[in-house]
Amino acid sequence: MSKRDYYEVLGVERGADQKDIKKAYRRLAQKYHPDRNPDDETAAEKFREVSEAYEVLTDSEKRAAYDQFGHAGVDGQAAGAGGFGGAGAGGFSDIFGDVFGDIFGGGGARRHPNAPQRGSDLRYNLELDLESAVAGTTVDIRVPRHIECERCDGDGAEPGSSKETCPTCHGHGQVRMQQGFFAVQQTCPTCHGSGQHIKVPCHKCHGEGRVRETRTLSVKIPAGVDTGDRIRLNGEGEAGINGGPPGDLYVQVAIKPHPIFERDGRHLQCEVPINFVDAALGGELEVPTLDGRVKLKIPPETQTGKMFRLKGKGVKPVRGGPAGDLLCRVVVETPVKLGEEQKELLRRFQDSLEGSNSHHSPKKTSFFDGVKKFFEDMKP
Ligand SMILES: [Zn+2]
Ligand SMILES: [Zn+2]
Repeated sequence: MSKRDYYEVLGVERGADQKDIKKAYRRLAQKYHPDRNPDDETAAEKFREVSEAYEVLTDSEKRAAYDQFGHAGVDGQAAGAGGFGGAGAGGFSDIFGDVFGDIFGGGGARRHPNAPQRGSDLRYNLELDLESAVAGTTVDIRVPRHIECERCDGDGAEPGSSKETCPTCHGHGQVRMQQGFFAVQQTCPTCHGSGQHIKVPCHKCHGEGRVRETRTLSVKIPAGVDTGDRIRLNGEGEAGINGGPPGDLYVQVAIKPHPIFERDGRHLQCEVPINFVDAALGGELEVPTLDGRVKLKIPPETQTGKMFRLKGKGVKPVRGGPAGDLLCRVVVETPVKLGEEQKELLRRFQDSLEGSNSHHSPKKTSFFDGVKKFFEDMKP
């Protein structure tokens, strides 16, 4: 199989500098990355080709050899080929490669240490009060995360310096230990699998390629969000590794308890205390809603627990559909701190009920009838 020219593979000029090569590589590696193209052999082949070209052209020694001798100058050296365990992988094809190939990531299962890796997703827990959640809002959040180091462009090497092939593993990222009959392959202890050795680490990130930063992000919260909803901010997670794309940031919403309203999906509930005179005679009440007070008519003979439904005074769901209702539960309140005159009025009121109790308190009557029957049934 004849190989394409590395410069052609990356689509860069022969004299291209490291920055241009990296940029071209990043674009192509993201396009052909196996995670994005599952089960696509053509993309996998392209990805191998691109990685290999990148590996050679970003290593000054290999690049010089390639410029002078072409593929013959670097074949068998490029860890980009060997690392993927693909057909024709150079460098690993000794006798143990055949025996242990399947165990040690043969068939492309092993991830190349220099392959771009997507950054981690981040989660931010956001507590909102009910009013903001229902109306929608914009909040500023502070997110500590890793971002790509600007000084070295995520490379880890001080600008102007170059990386060299790791002297321990010769760029493979893996070393082979012979133990009796067995050869054991391990991640290279010198370069931790990257196959490269940074001569002068970047002054800003100390060779890590990423730096920690706390950034303030403005997050738009759509109207109607509820506890458990997640808002995804594309690409606002951790920076990728080796030029991989960044992860996402998930803002996890939780609604704080409200002093008046309880939320149940798109419906709201509240308790409305009324005095027993209004409950008995009927009347008009002011009840709170999220957009101000409204009048509620209470019919005569209203009992505790009675629900009044105010249509459309609930929450408009974030995923669309009509607004829910506000359910007002009436609680009849017993009067307190009564004066002597008021007590006297109540006693007179009580006297007026004598003899006709069952008629005025249907619930009480049916309750005590039930109790009476209960005890009669228990008699032997
Ligand atoms: Zn090494
Ligand atoms: Zn840096």
